[in-house]
Amino acid sequence: MTKNLQLILLGAPGSGKGTQAARLVAENAFNHISTGDLLRAEVKSESELGLRVKAIMDSGNLVDDDTVLELLKKNCDLKSSSYIFDGFPRNEAQAKALDEKVLADTPSMAVYFDIDLDVLEQRIVNRRVCKGCGEIYNLLFKKPSVEGVCDKCGSTDLELRKDDNPETVKNRLKVYKESTEPVLKYYQDLNRLSRVNAAADSEEVFKELLNVINN
Ligand code: AMP
Repeated sequence: MTKNLQLILLGAPGSGKGTQAARLVAENAFNHISTGDLLRAEVKSESELGLRVKAIMDSGNLVDDDTVLELLKKNCDLKSSSYIFDGFPRNEAQAKALDEKVLADTPSMAVYFDIDLDVLEQRIVNRRVCKGCGEIYNLLFKKPSVEGVCDKCGSTDLELRKDDNPETVKNRLKVYKESTEPVLKYYQDLNRLSRVNAAADSEEVFKELLNVINN
């Protein structure tokens, strides 16, 4: 793997970016940075920023570019670490800002998690997140061993994320199509885009991902 490589994971919400990022973090020298997680932490702490973005997030729309970019810059140090960017960039302006204001000369690669959007809608509404430790489950293909109990920490609080409800999911996928699909073209045109088949099972996707990163 290229030294100091920064990895940009692209794909619709629910395409498996978060799950695969967690595996890469566990097995490689990557740190995970998710703008969705950073924003949710702000909402939870009821910071000024959190209070400002809560309603936008609950509706599935995008938070403004400057806010997200500032939050991102505050939380990563590219000189000393390799990061996986998950959920950023979400539009072409963010992709350009990432190149110009954050990455500069740091080597990077974008990977597209390719999957049909109708399949995704079902995946997302069946997703559950452990309130205790953040472990992600899916009632279709990654159930906890005992129904309703987290395998990792034993919490019985496995919840549907607020923005994973069917109505918001439809809007998030619409926003994805309109805003984020052009980002694929941005990286494709610069010859910096690789692809994995995100409809395959998790093990297979991970293998493909390692292959892409190491070649
Ligand atoms: P995620 O967990 O990545 O699906 O993000 C959840 C929500 O956070 C999104 O629906 C947006 O409201 C907001 N969000 C996350 N990342 C970004 C971003 N890069 N730009 C704008 N809004 C974002």
